[in-house]
Amino acid sequence: MTRLWNEPADFADEMVDGFARANGRWVRKVYGGVSRATASADPEVAVVIGGGSGHYPAFAGLVGPGLAHGAAMGNLFASPSAHQVESVARASHRGRGVLLSYGNYAGDVLHFTEAQETLRADGIDCRSVAVIDDIFSAAPDEIEKRRGIAGDLTVFKVAGAAASLGYDLDGVERVAQHANRRTRSMGVAFTGCTMPGAAEPLFSVPEGRMAIGLGIHGEPGLAETAIPSANGLAELFVERLLDEAEIPEGARKSGARVVPILNGLGSVKSEELFVVFSRIAELAEAEGLTLVDPQVGEFCTSFDMAGVSLTLFWLDDELERLWLAPADTPAFRTGSFDAAGLSAIADDGEQAAERSVPAASEESRDAAQRIAALLGAVRDVIDEHADELGRIDAIAGDGDHGIGMKRGARAAAEEASAVVGLGAGARTVLASAADAWADRAGGTSGALWGVILRTLAAHVTDDARVSPEQLGAGLSAASDAVMAYGKAQVGDKTLVDALVPFSGKLAEGLAGGADLPTAWEAAAKAATKAAEDTADLMPGKGRARSHGEKALGVPDPGAVSLALIATTVGSKLAQS
Ligand code: ADP
Ligand code: MG
Repeated sequence: MTRLWNEPADFADEMVDGFARANGRWVRKVYGGVSRATASADPEVAVVIGGGSGHYPAFAGLVGPGLAHGAAMGNLFASPSAHQVESVARASHRGRGVLLSYGNYAGDVLHFTEAQETLRADGIDCRSVAVIDDIFSAAPDEIEKRRGIAGDLTVFKVAGAAASLGYDLDGVERVAQHANRRTRSMGVAFTGCTMPGAAEPLFSVPEGRMAIGLGIHGEPGLAETAIPSANGLAELFVERLLDEAEIPEGARKSGARVVPILNGLGSVKSEELFVVFSRIAELAEAEGLTLVDPQVGEFCTSFDMAGVSLTLFWLDDELERLWLAPADTPAFRTGSFDAAGLSAIADDGEQAAERSVPAASEESRDAAQRIAALLGAVRDVIDEHADELGRIDAIAGDGDHGIGMKRGARAAAEEASAVVGLGAGARTVLASAADAWADRAGGTSGALWGVILRTLAAHVTDDARVSPEQLGAGLSAASDAVMAYGKAQVGDKTLVDALVPFSGKLAEGLAGGADLPTAWEAAAKAATKAAEDTADLMPGKGRARSHGEKALGVPDPGAVSLALIATTVGSKLAQS
């Protein structure tokens, strides 16, 4: 249970604010997350980490000398937007390039990759390492598909230490990849977490049972057993992680030097962890391992989830030197960092630039006003259905779809009315709403709604009236753009399953001579039917992929919210 919150949709922002205020010695707040408050005497490669919020100390707690240079912080359990990642990277960059590192989740990969492309196009050398330590998320021969859990610490630490020792970007990338290949984790869970404001936990494990391999957002595990004793859990961890197939290439069990990280997911106490660790150490040593600098505590959490994970980091000489190098961050300190060469970076706050919008014709301004009103209706219908969307997403996804859509739709509506107030035309209002939605929503769906609105913006202008034909063509193009961006096809159980029939039916109606409200209404019906039909589909793309059969019988949340939006806009169009 999360007990303390104000407005759930504001939780992540307020948390970032409090974190930055409490840790001014290490970090300053920048748009999209935090960046170091100090600079080293010699410029370093910038290591920028990040991901959804709700996993403290991952990610912001790891920013400081010897470790990360910045952390992009998304909404709860939702990836930061590409803009946010880009902004934190720019704030942290000191001329020697940027390494982006994050857990391997669809939304994070999408946004960090987009940010990387933007930075490169701007002449900033940028590389990425997606962490893949969780052995239960894919088989050893599909290691690239694994997701990242508490093992992200080893990759971040090694990259940050290399940067601090003056390695160039090639070198930092090389050691980060190497650490990634030599890190293996597995987790178990006893109960799920309850998000701020939610009445129910994201998922539950039957009383007295333990799920094995369960993900940090409630992605299902591989198996379930009775809760073992502390020793029993230690034995399970050691047995699975020392399985032949999980010994990293180039490593050997006997004589290996290994960093163990025993991680509590939120509500398992340090004392319990120490009891488990006592047996882990005994077993690992009996297997011939030498344990180096063990870590027992919280490194990657999931709110109040009751769970434990064990990570093994297989060292070689270089990795050991980098792991043991001093670091000083809010949540991870090791050795004694020599602060003599550090200088403070002025915190200039988030500058509120004077805003202006491109000039627009009266016709286009009228259209902009109607678009802003439609976005207001979208915000209201999403607000009303947010809980339900979160519930559907929790069954086969990570439970954040309601909260993400709510933040996105609110931000888009607010931004639209702000720019309309400044005299914006149709293109500007749609483009501004697109950026606001993508930035504030986070998550895969946030990026995709950004793509939809941005594509629509490109089909209208700030000069002329908006025609039904432009909207029809814009929606067909949006549907193609979403497929190009997210790589999902019809039948993969995503919002594409509702968007394709929607835009198809709209184009068909308009071509057949129907007026906009009539064609839109028929298209919205097709989208609603298609969204319902996604219940029968198995997931193909997106985060729900690892959930397999659990998703059967439940419609795709992104398709459901898209159909809701289409229907609401349709009824508004019919009224006006
Ligand atoms: P996240 O998946 O990052 O948690 P949300 O929960 O907000 O983001 O959105 C989930 C929805 O996003 C899914 O229900 C699906 O409709 C849509 N989605 C996810 N991945 C893709 C993709 N690759 N292409 C199209 N839609 C996708
Ligand atoms: Mg989700």
